Amino acid sequence: MFRIRFHGRGGQGMKTASRILGTAFFMEGYEVQDAPRYGAERRGAPIFAYVRADKSPVNERGIISHPDLVVVSDDTLVGMPAAGVMQGIDQHTVLLINSHESAETWSQRLNTPATVLILPAREDAREATIDRAELPYIGSSCAAASAALSNVISRDVLAKALTEELEHLGNEIVKQNLDIALTAFDAMSPHVGIVKQSFLPSATDYKKPEWIKLPFESAEISAPAIHAGITSVEVRTGLWRTMRPIINYEKCSGCWWICSTYCPDGAINVTAEGLPEIDYDHCKGCLICVAQCPPHAIESIPEHIAKQQEISAASFSGDKT
Ligand code: SF4
Ligand code: SF4
Repeated sequence: MFRIRFHGRGGQGMKTASRILGTAFFMEGYEVQDAPRYGAERRGAPIFAYVRADKSPVNERGIISHPDLVVVSDDTLVGMPAAGVMQGIDQHTVLLINSHESAETWSQRLNTPATVLILPAREDAREATIDRAELPYIGSSCAAASAALSNVISRDVLAKALTEELEHLGNEIVKQNLDIALTAFDAMSPHVGIVKQSFLPSATDYKKPEWIKLPFESAEISAPAIHAGITSVEVRTGLWRTMRPIINYEKCSGCWWICSTYCPDGAINVTAEGLPEIDYDHCKGCLICVAQCPPHAIESIPEHIAKQQEISAASFSGDKT
């Protein structure tokens, strides 16, 4: 069985990548399972999707814990423990990262036994104006590269599967995705067939468990036990942010009960002077506050531009001292 996991951010098309790859496997005569997995979070949050494909019925369920191939659309996720990119990776696994950096750099950085390959990041994705959550066409590139690495999906079938999955978006979008996907497919030609099916025990090999009788428990006993409260502050969701909301205090009318109430993460505090203040350690960049602010006093800019501005401001003030 092939076990393939895609990691990316909400909005980058990893769900679509798994759909395209799953459909391509199916067209090649495989039994297929494909599914995305994400929480209630929005754009920019780490998500993953997975594909299982086998010539026999796929009885295995749930998250892939021993992947043959892991594909990462956004290299900023690799070092983020919450994204789980490195989970279950061993010497059998191929790790394909969309990055401007080399495979050697990533191998050394991660100290991993896996084979690391690079899906060359497109030059336009480096441009400062492009928001990471919308890396263009990356879902199609990841699906196509995976198809080539498996060596069981032909170029024509990949194109057919992609067209079928994206045709609702119109011919022009399909054509653009197809061009970029086939480029990614061809770029993997030195590594065709490097991803091998693992022969881990499948669900059909398991001995059926005996019937287990679970006694009914009252709700009071079966309720979860919370051993330590107020720990969510430890989860710095600010790391997920691809767009940064910035309050323009010249336009702000001080109606803090609006923005601070709408913020789903409680990341807008109110100062003693009655002004809203964004907690950037916990603001995940969902931009609900931007949409809700009545006088449009909250603007948004791409996070990497905000960081560049911070660095420039810091060096400018350093020059003066
Ligand atoms: S909703 Fe907008 S105007 Fe009102 S306090 Fe918040 S930022 Fe200021
Ligand atoms: S401050 Fe704005 S962008 Fe940040 S989490 Fe709250 S509503 Fe979303």
